[in-house]
Amino acid sequence: MTRIKQTLAELVRIDSVSAGSNADIVEYLERRCADLGLVTRRFPYLDDYGIEKINLIALTKDVAEVELALVGHTDTVPYDPIWTDATNLTERDGKLYGRGSCDTKGFIAAALTALETIDLSQLTKPLALIFTADEEIGLRGAKQLALEKPLRVRYSIVGEPTSLKPVRAGKGYSLAEVIVKGREAHSAYPALGASAIFRAARLINRLEIIARQLRQDQHAAFDPPYTTLNVGLIHGGSAKNVLAGECRFTLEWRPVPSQPSEHVLKLFQAAIQEETQADPDFQCEVDASRADSGFETPPDSPLIKLLEKLTGKGSSTVAFGTEAAQMMALGSVSVVIGPGDIREAHRTGEFVPVDELERCAEILKESVMQICLISG
Ligand SMILES: [Zn+2]
Repeated sequence: MTRIKQTLAELVRIDSVSAGSNADIVEYLERRCADLGLVTRRFPYLDDYGIEKINLIALTKDVAEVELALVGHTDTVPYDPIWTDATNLTERDGKLYGRGSCDTKGFIAAALTALETIDLSQLTKPLALIFTADEEIGLRGAKQLALEKPLRVRYSIVGEPTSLKPVRAGKGYSLAEVIVKGREAHSAYPALGASAIFRAARLINRLEIIARQLRQDQHAAFDPPYTTLNVGLIHGGSAKNVLAGECRFTLEWRPVPSQPSEHVLKLFQAAIQEETQADPDFQCEVDASRADSGFETPPDSPLIKLLEKLTGKGSSTVAFGTEAAQMMALGSVSVVIGPGDIREAHRTGEFVPVDELERCAEILKESVMQICLISG
């Protein structure tokens, strides 16, 4: 077995589903980084369930600012218990199967392998490996780093399965729960109450109009080229013959990076205000729980140009969230790239193609050499 496959097999062997602690995989990565002569620093925090999670930073020099960071998340999505080989990396037809093989342990194995083939003492500019926790449950670890700012980063290469296509921009992700109040009454006497469901329906109609308005703010690099929104869940009422006292629905939107997350919220608040003017009894709460920003690196950035040259592929954009936005908070210009296909990522039978895995290590090696070795 080649070195890179061996490393990936060891990473996959360590169960690191987001729900549990990531201490075991962090310990493994610390050991590997120490073998490379890197300085490691742990940044622990408690997740929403009181479980300790650890972000790990490994540095070629003990500095506060690095030229380049390679970023990979240590956690994976859960796996179905019927997939008995989920943590046992299995090779078939040039593909390596296992939970996390594609998202994102393949990238981590490639990064470690790349560094093993470089004489790190020769680097003229500092390099970091950043291993995060809880990416799969709302980028929690990366957000913690963005808050603590333990390091300044000039350029970052964020690992996510993109089939080795450089991704230079991603949409943000925002979420709110809307709670509309009514007054219960017997449905034979609707004048005695107010239906929260009818009220919610009016708001949802307005959201459809807002969704159409959002199309006017075009960002041509994306597909679709504008902010989208969705009401994915709705729940309300207690019985068929009772006016609903409450109706809740989720409002999710994916803003283009040029548009602040609050834009949709402001349009929605204005719609609520109009409803309240028409009906002074109208009551509605908006509980916004997420506002993850998108990211965008200009197509002519040296980082994008370099990765386009190394991969032979033009850069593109994605409609989903990545840790690149949090790396921006550390001062970084970012690109997202990694082996494997995002469409395979969260499925039973997740895999990474061997050739892409090996190619990724070469690309990362070249990137480190070009960014951290050549002065100027
Ligand atoms: Zn991922």
